[in-house]
Amino acid sequence: MLFSQISKKSLSQLLKKRPPTSQIKQIHAQIITQSLSSSHLCLIDSLIHCYLHTRNLNTARALFNGYPLPSPPTLLWNLMIRACSKLQDLLEPIYLLRRMLNLENQVGVVPDDYTFNFVITSSTRQNSIVYGEVLHGMVIKYGWFENLCVANSLINMYGVFGKVDDAYAVFDKMSDRDVFSWTGLVSAYAKNGEMCRAGEIFVEMPVKNEVSWAVMISGFVGCGKYVEALSFFHEMTAQMRPNEAVLVCSLSACAHLGSLSQGNWIHGYIDRKGIVETSNVKTALIDMYAKCGKIDCAYGLFNNIPRPDVHNFTSLISGLSIHGLGDHVIQVFRRMLAEKLKPNGITVLGVLNGCSHSGLVHHGSSVFYNMEDLWGITPKIEHYGCYIDLLGRAGYLAKAFGVAKSMPVNPDVAVWRALLSACRIHRSSDFGERVINHLEQLDPGCYDGGKVLLSNLYASLGKWDKVAQIRNVMGSRKNQSDIGCSWIEINGVFHEFRVADVLHPQIVEIQNKLAEIIQRIGLVGYSADAAHVSFDISEEDKAQAVSWHGEKLAVAFGLMNTLPRTSLRIVKNLRTCDDCHLALKAISKVYDREIIVRDRCRFHTFNQGYCSCNEYW
Ligand code: ZN
Ligand code: ZN
Repeated sequence: MLFSQISKKSLSQLLKKRPPTSQIKQIHAQIITQSLSSSHLCLIDSLIHCYLHTRNLNTARALFNGYPLPSPPTLLWNLMIRACSKLQDLLEPIYLLRRMLNLENQVGVVPDDYTFNFVITSSTRQNSIVYGEVLHGMVIKYGWFENLCVANSLINMYGVFGKVDDAYAVFDKMSDRDVFSWTGLVSAYAKNGEMCRAGEIFVEMPVKNEVSWAVMISGFVGCGKYVEALSFFHEMTAQMRPNEAVLVCSLSACAHLGSLSQGNWIHGYIDRKGIVETSNVKTALIDMYAKCGKIDCAYGLFNNIPRPDVHNFTSLISGLSIHGLGDHVIQVFRRMLAEKLKPNGITVLGVLNGCSHSGLVHHGSSVFYNMEDLWGITPKIEHYGCYIDLLGRAGYLAKAFGVAKSMPVNPDVAVWRALLSACRIHRSSDFGERVINHLEQLDPGCYDGGKVLLSNLYASLGKWDKVAQIRNVMGSRKNQSDIGCSWIEINGVFHEFRVADVLHPQIVEIQNKLAEIIQRIGLVGYSADAAHVSFDISEEDKAQAVSWHGEKLAVAFGLMNTLPRTSLRIVKNLRTCDDCHLALKAISKVYDREIIVRDRCRFHTFNQGYCSCNEYW
């Protein structure tokens, strides 16, 4: 036997090196044969450590349960509780805690703040509010509420469960609070989307650390308030250096807004302050440049990374795909595979998207059908949606429909949207009807989004009686996420426009300008394509309705407020409609302006009457 002559001290030192499982078992055998287990408890402690370290919970548990009397030390209880809580098993950590509390009076093993923290965290991780409340009761019963760390984990727990009133109640009862208690409460409100309340508490905080700022900034980004996120970012940099999470969130806010000026500023700040660009920050920078229309900068940044990791690659691939650069997507993806990096689900989604925007059906199909075998990625609904979109756009309607019907999960709204939009592009009312028949057989209650699509398709086929029927079934509910919204940044200020917006202070001037624009582009052959107006009104009124789309209002506003030949950058939350696409092409020619629009799917650069997407979107 390898260790036959080894002393207790050496065994203990070997165990401290965290050896692999095979070696642990040999050492374990040695301890048993030399009958060291009861006299040298530190060896047992180390063994349990090692078994937990190698995720051999069963053996660790057996050793723990057979631990000589009176009881294992608190540290071991804590380790066991933490290990069990990672196993998606909630009962065992609580059972261990109860056993420990029962022993407290008999043999003096005392839980500490870590014990409670681990158990509370485990109930948070397993999303069990019931056990969380039981634990809260135990904390009070056993007199642990006065412990700062324990009370802080209760605040965090209620925050994760979205029970902000309970989080506040804990906070309110605390006699002593630190920056983590305050941050926990701010985070509870932020996670629940109550940013006003979070802001009030944030202002009251006696001391703030970088985590407190990160919570506010990521809270704003999480609920789509990007402008606010950036204003907090600037306020923070005046007081302290931002951490990685803050930088990543703020760059993501720039990406969402398409704000190149803000993104450039943050990149410059990182350079000026000599902040180390971690992989996450690099990934966020690549994403920001790509989404702000600067794919060359994203490429340059990527090329300067000595050994790009999977996240850097994924960020570049997704960026290239929204720019419609399918060939580059394939090229970068090949390089990634050649460097023996394993793609993740988001990488594959980026590749499929890239293929879809460039009509690369063959490449896309090969990636889609091999993703599970080659990289162990089970296709999720997004992957199906993207693949169906790829087939549909390229005109393979029957195949796309077949894939949708054979999906292992129920197709969602995105899938039906892709299919219906393919039917519309290829003017196939035949397939449109088949998709509709399929949609109609589904449970109507679950498919409100599908109903909206259905009514849009009926509208584009001119079947107004059907449209009315669906509208009646749906009632007057309006899906907020389907309301179009466009942003344009002029001199550092963001202006937001919705369909038929009347909220903007300059709305009258904007509408007059837009009327003038429509008239001028009409002279070069533009006429409104009203297939997108999904209610039954006269042709003239329909032309009016599409002309008030947010991106047209934003362009009119941009033309009014910028010098001639300045590029206009617009970000839109939905896919650009056919009519706006036509109109923007005409405007770019008549007004001699480059207009860059980022819609939900990709970039369109309009110049001299053409769009960079070549009508593929
Ligand atoms: Zn439009
Ligand atoms: Zn386009």
